[in-house]
Amino acid sequence: MPAKIYSAQWVLPVSSPPIEGGAVAVEGERVVGVGARDEIAARFPEAAREEFGASAILPGLINCHSHIELTAMRGYLEDVESNFFAWLFKLTAARMNRMTAEDLRDSAAWGAVEAARAGVTTLADACSEGEASARALGDVGLRGIVYQEAIHPDPAKAAETFEKFEINLAKLRARETPLVRAGVSPHAPYSASAPLIERVRDLAERERLPLMIHAAESEAEDLMFREGRGTFAESLAARGIEWRAPRVSPIRYLERLGLLRVKPVLAHCVRADDADIETIRETGAGVAHCPKSNAKLGHGRAPYEKFLGLRHGFGSDSVASNNTCDILEEARFALLVARSANRQSNLDALTAERALHDATLGGAHALGFDDCGSLEEGKQADLTVVRLDAPHQTPAHDPARTLVFASSGRDVTLTAVAGREIFRDGRVVNADEERLRARMNEIKEKLGTMNAER
Ligand SMILES: [Zn+2]
Repeated sequence: MPAKIYSAQWVLPVSSPPIEGGAVAVEGERVVGVGARDEIAARFPEAAREEFGASAILPGLINCHSHIELTAMRGYLEDVESNFFAWLFKLTAARMNRMTAEDLRDSAAWGAVEAARAGVTTLADACSEGEASARALGDVGLRGIVYQEAIHPDPAKAAETFEKFEINLAKLRARETPLVRAGVSPHAPYSASAPLIERVRDLAERERLPLMIHAAESEAEDLMFREGRGTFAESLAARGIEWRAPRVSPIRYLERLGLLRVKPVLAHCVRADDADIETIRETGAGVAHCPKSNAKLGHGRAPYEKFLGLRHGFGSDSVASNNTCDILEEARFALLVARSANRQSNLDALTAERALHDATLGGAHALGFDDCGSLEEGKQADLTVVRLDAPHQTPAHDPARTLVFASSGRDVTLTAVAGREIFRDGRVVNADEERLRARMNEIKEKLGTMNAER
């Protein structure tokens, strides 16, 4: 296949300095050249060319934590946000009792459409039915890891839960492709019992599967582990499940369970203390920083500035708690929240370049991908083009600062994964957006009647 050259006012390879008047040559699924426009044109004289003008070409954005099967729940849980337990309960009840397999599939497909439109090329997606998410990523053409969730807090149910989990995992693995990998996710230390976490850990180790877990997200979780009280501890007692608090942080508890040795991605880490951060660093686990979801649900501020020495990237979490899957917006929010809580003298460490790195290459490292996240010869051609000349961006002094402080996923004009264009000319190439939009409204109506009955 002959090469294609994408050029623009700016190319931001992320692993090397920005190139003014830059170009990226793509052949098949790989980047074959990155450099000045003229130099790349001379190297690939036969290549087709596309010039994007006042735009930036950057590596595809990486969403390190999402739940695209819940996309139809955008805005649906806002009446119960003041109680995380009630929020999780309403979410789970709606997903299990009201959403059919087809609803989950279409919901995931709509999430994949949203991601592609926002320049996201890779998702790390946790799913109750991994198959739905894998299908959605595959159809739209996204790269990703789909983590099959295992969830049950009762140790007595670990064997039974694990059996069902293995059936779902097998269906997910049947849908693996070169772009979409299967992973596993014991949901969280408060919602998956120790024996269940251990079973999933052993499987991940044996089969070399990536693992994701929510950790240190909420006050209720912290209280349950450190003091044995709070809404999560009370709910276990109400269900007759015995709970003896280990009197350590959730992250220390996971370390004692031996989970950190599989280098999981830890989603949230809002309440990670300095000892936890050190443990994460030593074990080489990754962190998915989800600042908008944390803020919206009132969980507090994760110490982003302390994540800088860890493998870390940004996650949107589900749009039920965000409400958008937009990693440029996530990067801006992460930076602004960290800057607002730090001294002015720390601002030099909290830069747009840093946030853009975390939104791309940092995320790739956190997920264990070493062939995407930056624009370099030989790497996968995952790229995003963002216009830089809209009113809210003009005048633009510096491309990275304009991208992080003034842009969002809505400014994306092209998304390509492994050299294949998946979003261009205002539409997602391989999705029936009109049908899916109508389906989201249908599911909204169905879920809405559930509210009325409560
Ligand atoms: Zn999550």
